[in-house]
Amino acid sequence: MKSRRDLMLEEMGLTPVWRLRQRVPEATEAAPAATGEVAESRPAIRESRQPATADRREGIMCLEWRELKERVAGCTDCPLHAKRNKTVFGVGDENADWLFVGEGPGAEEDAQGEPFVGQAGRLLDSMLAAIKLKRGENVYIANIIKCRPPGNRNPEPQEAMQCEPYLHRQIELIRPQLIIALGKVAAANLLATDASVASMRGKVHRYRGTPLIVTYHPAYLLRNLTDKAKAWADLLFAVQTMRDLENSASSPPKGVTQ
Ligand code: URA
Repeated sequence: MKSRRDLMLEEMGLTPVWRLRQRVPEATEAAPAATGEVAESRPAIRESRQPATADRREGIMCLEWRELKERVAGCTDCPLHAKRNKTVFGVGDENADWLFVGEGPGAEEDAQGEPFVGQAGRLLDSMLAAIKLKRGENVYIANIIKCRPPGNRNPEPQEAMQCEPYLHRQIELIRPQLIIALGKVAAANLLATDASVASMRGKVHRYRGTPLIVTYHPAYLLRNLTDKAKAWADLLFAVQTMRDLENSASSPPKGVTQ
């Protein structure tokens, strides 16, 4: 009979490559690091950038969903707009507890206007399914930048900086319980750090107060099969962290009896 882990890996489309030589923690066991550990991020990148103009940011921070979507759809504030087909705003439940943040649109996303619809997106959907989540149901998916960089290169700091208020406003509107940064570019921009993904995994970081966990980008996992086991451990850690957050939110304040 297949184990629970095998069934979940199958759901993720990750068998047989996920078969491990070493044992991976089950959902009930401790994930890579103690839940509740809060890692402080270093303000390396954000401090070295020019801030977006205060007026522009303030204007974006006032927008509600409809206006924000229109603003992004018509954005010409960085050179990426010139070659895009569609902006890729983000997709999902606008009241989601889970927010997954990737890097930026690739060719298929640029054509369809939706994040993670290519091969990496299919892996992301499988990863979601493995922890009983589904695109659009208590899950929102967004990117650091809304327009495709030519040739799928990494976004330039200036491009990411111009786009940052859009994601910031999305996060304010969604108010997720937990953010999952997918890969180095997402983590670097959200946490203002140049640390490696490997060093950021297994800790609860914070983005403007919201708990954030770092894992590998699905496109990276497609190229680096051996790291899929680590991503699986990160997902279990995320599930446990969400549980802990829910429990701490529902437990009465100290000294109060129910
Ligand atoms: N990679 C990303 O980071 N985002 C997408 O939307 C698609 C691929």
